[in-house]
Amino acid sequence: MEPKAIKRKLSENLKEVEERIAQACARVGRPREDVTLVAVTKTVSLDIIRLLVDMGVQDIGESRVQELTKRAAMVDEWLSRRARDLAAGAKPRPRWHMIGHLQRNKVKALVPWTHMIHSVDSLRLAEEINNQAGKLDRSIPVMIEVNAGGEGSKHGIAVAATTHFVEQICSLPHLEITGLMAMAPFTDDESVIRETFTRVRELYDEIIGERLASTSFRMLSLGMSNDFEYGIEAGATHVRVGTALLKGIDLAPQAAPAHEGMT
Ligand SMILES: *Cc1c(COP(=O)(O)O)cnc(C)c1O
Repeated sequence: MEPKAIKRKLSENLKEVEERIAQACARVGRPREDVTLVAVTKTVSLDIIRLLVDMGVQDIGESRVQELTKRAAMVDEWLSRRARDLAAGAKPRPRWHMIGHLQRNKVKALVPWTHMIHSVDSLRLAEEINNQAGKLDRSIPVMIEVNAGGEGSKHGIAVAATTHFVEQICSLPHLEITGLMAMAPFTDDESVIRETFTRVRELYDEIIGERLASTSFRMLSLGMSNDFEYGIEAGATHVRVGTALLKGIDLAPQAAPAHEGMT
């Protein structure tokens, strides 16, 4: 695919996603600024990430630590190289969101590069993030991944265990608990997806109502390409969108090879 054609299609897709976000916000009377679009780039080449950054996308999601750190470093280098070329216009560095399942032994590599982790799902993982963030003298914003979709989902804290989990990790000094993340089950059944998101929203309200977390607890990461409108209608502040931004773009030949964790 010609670079120009890729750019045109990407820009079209972005506009379409923006439109869908705006309409979902309007339906429930929320301001558009309430919702952050996290562009999920796990299968695409660096060129496409650069184009997205150029189009003003500031939040990028990756599901694997190795990809996130490698790409964040390359985008950083590209931006600082370009900052010297004033004509190109400076762009802010994107914020890198870790959205996939995270293993403890990868935390150390991740922490210097990530803006926020959406997928904290165990006490030991939370402790390791706290530990590595402490070494860098910073605090990492994290969301707790809730297993609200039932049997189908492998990861996440059980709904019934989530408030206790918040209590367990809220005293870790280098973690900032910012909210909850969940994935809907793989289904076309709108009511099942909505029920899942509503369950997470209720849990979120409960945690706020009982003052279990600090005032930083104000985010909900709900919704992907096929269901982010339902997420927004349930109160999502972050939607994680990959496929809808990349549809119609032939990712060959520079595309990253298929790998597990891609689904
Ligand atoms: C891949 C992925 C997404 C994006 O999914 P799309 O359906 O491509 O929009 C969102 N969240 C997580 C955790 C993912 O792994």
